[in-house]
Amino acid sequence: MNWISNYVRPKINSLFSRREVPENLWTKCDNCGTMLFHRELADNLQVCTNCDHHMQISPRDRFTALFDGGIFTEVVVPAPIDDPLKFRDQKRYPDRLKAAQKGTGEAEAMLVAEGEILKTPVVAAAQDFSFMAGSMGMYVGNAIIAAAERAVAMGRPLVLFSAAGGARMQEGILSLMQMPRTTVAVEMLKEAGLPYVVVLTHPTTGGVTASYAMLGDVHIAEPNALICFAGPRVIEQTIRETLPEGFQRAEYLLDHGMLDRVTPRSQHREELATILRMLMGLSPVVHGDLPRPSAPAPAEAVQPHTEAPAIDSLPSGDSA
Ligand SMILES: [Zn+2]
Repeated sequence: MNWISNYVRPKINSLFSRREVPENLWTKCDNCGTMLFHRELADNLQVCTNCDHHMQISPRDRFTALFDGGIFTEVVVPAPIDDPLKFRDQKRYPDRLKAAQKGTGEAEAMLVAEGEILKTPVVAAAQDFSFMAGSMGMYVGNAIIAAAERAVAMGRPLVLFSAAGGARMQEGILSLMQMPRTTVAVEMLKEAGLPYVVVLTHPTTGGVTASYAMLGDVHIAEPNALICFAGPRVIEQTIRETLPEGFQRAEYLLDHGMLDRVTPRSQHREELATILRMLMGLSPVVHGDLPRPSAPAPAEAVQPHTEAPAIDSLPSGDSA
């Protein structure tokens, strides 16, 4: 009875005990449908190991993979006023925010940090699509201004990873005001002569594409990312024509001169360090981790920004 007790019975048991397996152990690839073990997927930066489909990655995981040794310091973002319009659809806006905060463990839809990429000091900001579709509200505006101010204060380039469904409609006109605000923030970097590199990730749409995501010195995109102002469905319905294959996808935009590069996530560190070093006039990236010739200087104390940046004090440039 060996075959029955050793093979058939465990098989039958496994069929009936499937409920005990936690559901979050596996993630299904949206593109090819392969079931991916979550740890394997995390090790591969949320890129499908079968078809190279780039899935959403949280800003925190992205920064851990981007910065040397996974070490970065968060830049404090001043909190905006709560729910200025007392907006309510099916749910109250503060309730939506609370649910998103609980779901992501983040304060809002953008994370700003400073650290080093292959020993290149940078300030980086990343938008979180899983937080209310990464929508651009007052907090995201504040985050970009905080990132730009920090970059100018430290003389570092700014790298921004965009991912957004557009402006946050719950904040009405105040969300649209973030377009000129963030444009001014980008202008601060340009006045200070510091590079601003945008990495467009899937999807980057609406007011975000129409402002800070398209104002970089260099535009890199992740493979197959949808990058547009109005989405393909809206355009198709408006012009009543079938759109070409891959329309508004990263590779299509690269072919049509909207982007400079399409780079897989696994190569971002290398590519960003190379581009930033060239733009900053630094020596090329040195591979290998040799000890420093002299005792390292004491680590610079991080001074979080606590004062709220008022929009009218932005373009002064005296902090440069
Ligand atoms: Zn796949």
